[in-house]
Amino acid sequence: MTTTLGTASAGPGEIDTGRLEVGETRDGSPFGLPVAVVNGAESGKTLYVQAASDGDELNGIGVIQRVVPQLDPSELSGTILLTGIVNYHGFQVAQHRNPIDDTKMNRTYPGDENGTSSERISAATFEAATRADLILDLHQGSTSRMIDEVRVRCGRRHRMYEECLELAKAFGCGYVLDQKGPDGQLARVAPDEGIPTVDPELGGAVGWDERSIEKGVRGVFNVLRYYDFLEGERTPERQTRAGGFEQYGSPVGGLVDFQADLGEEVSRGQTLFEVTSPFGEPKATVTADSSGILWRTRRLPQVATGEYVCSVGTDVDTY
Ligand SMILES: [Zn+2]
Repeated sequence: MTTTLGTASAGPGEIDTGRLEVGETRDGSPFGLPVAVVNGAESGKTLYVQAASDGDELNGIGVIQRVVPQLDPSELSGTILLTGIVNYHGFQVAQHRNPIDDTKMNRTYPGDENGTSSERISAATFEAATRADLILDLHQGSTSRMIDEVRVRCGRRHRMYEECLELAKAFGCGYVLDQKGPDGQLARVAPDEGIPTVDPELGGAVGWDERSIEKGVRGVFNVLRYYDFLEGERTPERQTRAGGFEQYGSPVGGLVDFQADLGEEVSRGQTLFEVTSPFGEPKATVTADSSGILWRTRRLPQVATGEYVCSVGTDVDTY
């Protein structure tokens, strides 16, 4: 059966790329998101993958661009639908939010086809995503520094919770943040449609981080093997899971010097960072309120009073 997404149309054993039209730019030109259909020779499940719903999060694009050329549809069972760049306008100017309506797109799902710019793009991609049996929404910790992890956002009481957790484990970054997300996230709302959805967070970088992209590529292939799109056994490895997230800001202005490494286990009371003046004078020492894992840090050293410095993943266990 031929499968179509926007202008991409592929019969069994074929790949096609095209555009999913969602409106016009300010000069009146129609614009469309880059999409692809990989239609397996054999029938099976459907996987939907998208990247860059935050316009400065480019690692997911790096993953898609490396995965698609490696796929041989004659060896695939099932179908893969992909949107290479969701936040079209943000991507053009390397900006996190959609500049047309100054909105973070991953707060606008399931979208509205007659709504704002972001809502229209969300509606178009949500329609594509909900044709699938499994959804991967590729993100990263924006341009800050972050470990590679996968987020389960539906919340522990959701009927699809176990399936989402299983998908996160199948992807296999090593770390999972298991915490109900804010309204409007794709990984929060698509499970309401009965579709296991996770949000792989592939590090954090300005531009491309090859190491995180490589983890993402491996994650997509892990999912394809685990859910039988591709042959080959795949036994997921245990994941380190954090159930909470504590954010730390600076009590003073100055320059941050981290005393723990990203991914390091920290204990309650352990020093996370010190802040010094431009002349090296110590100004403040900040310690961990709870034990956990240093999960994310700011990239630049300079901070104002109250400015974000780092996050610790808490309530850590393995599954
Ligand atoms: Zn993001």
